Amino acid sequence: MYDVAIIGSGPAGLSASIYAKRAGLHAVTLEQNPMSGGQVLNTYEVDNYPGLPGINGFDLGMKFREHADKLGCEFREAVVEAVKENAQGFTLVTDGGELQAKTVLAAMGATHAKLNIPGEEELSGMGVSYCATCDGAFFRGRVTAVIGGGDVAVEDAIFLARGCEKVYLIHRRDELRAAAVLQKELMALPNVEVIWDTVVEKISGEDQVDSLLIKNVKTGEKKALLVDGVFVAVGIIPSGGLLQDLVDCDEKGYLIAGEDCATSRPGIFAAGDLRKKKLRQIVTAVSDGANAITSILDYLLNHVE
Ligand code: NAP
Repeated sequence: MYDVAIIGSGPAGLSASIYAKRAGLHAVTLEQNPMSGGQVLNTYEVDNYPGLPGINGFDLGMKFREHADKLGCEFREAVVEAVKENAQGFTLVTDGGELQAKTVLAAMGATHAKLNIPGEEELSGMGVSYCATCDGAFFRGRVTAVIGGGDVAVEDAIFLARGCEKVYLIHRRDELRAAAVLQKELMALPNVEVIWDTVVEKISGEDQVDSLLIKNVKTGEKKALLVDGVFVAVGIIPSGGLLQDLVDCDEKGYLIAGEDCATSRPGIFAAGDLRKKKLRQIVTAVSDGANAITSILDYLLNHVE
């Protein structure tokens, strides 16, 4: 019987593993693939994590994991298929068998949102990508487009501009929501063109993307834009589906929990990008992991025999 089963090994899960170990809890962190770090692994450069300016996202993910390993945190590679409440706590049903825990910390993060337009699914992996740092190198010297106006879209456009001949950033409004520092960097790049007030209606190509059908939402004008690749960066979808029947969620599927990370179900806690909150950053995910373990310690002291 574990004191806590932490589901997910992104920054929130890894921070929780470290805090749990240091607090003397019997904890296990379940990860569905062998590489810890979550979304941060696919970030080219992280420039807002205190003390490590400009660190590569992959390196930061590795540092988090190395820290947890150094302390002797327990990890298990397993896909959690269900969480069931029982008299002692919770049973986690995984693809590698069941395990018992007095509490559960949901730290499964989030996945990429899709546009759901014609051509997107058919050409996925054939010019349609959701990860510029993973696939950008295939488009060296070519023309690409990034769709979205948030931090990820702008970071992706900046990253792609280093190797692509030309990068279009296509945004549905006339202002970006990305951080000012990123916008400034983007606007200074000579090979980036922002296409404002525009949505993409279709992605075309035979075996490889060759063009986008774009529409100006203000004028209604439609035209084809020739590109070799398109990077979709239109936000994230919380990966909390596993617990949706057990805890309260908002209309978008984020698990509702305050800064103490306690959900509506006693014994289940939520940390990181899947928690309903205002600011989703590595630093806030890491801080959730620490807060969650503090709340779990209180819970174990006051609620569990
Ligand atoms: P986001 O901030 O939610 O931005 C999504 C963007 O996609 C928005 O500009 C949105 O347009 C646009 N969009 C959404 N649906 C669309 C659609 N169907 N068609 C066209 N455009 C659409 O998501 P994100 O950039 O993936 O970032 C996720 C979270 O991680 C955010 O909280 C972000 O701050 C955080 N993050 C932070 C950093 C950093 O600090 N360096 C880096 C990466 C991510 P509207 O603007 O019109 O809504």
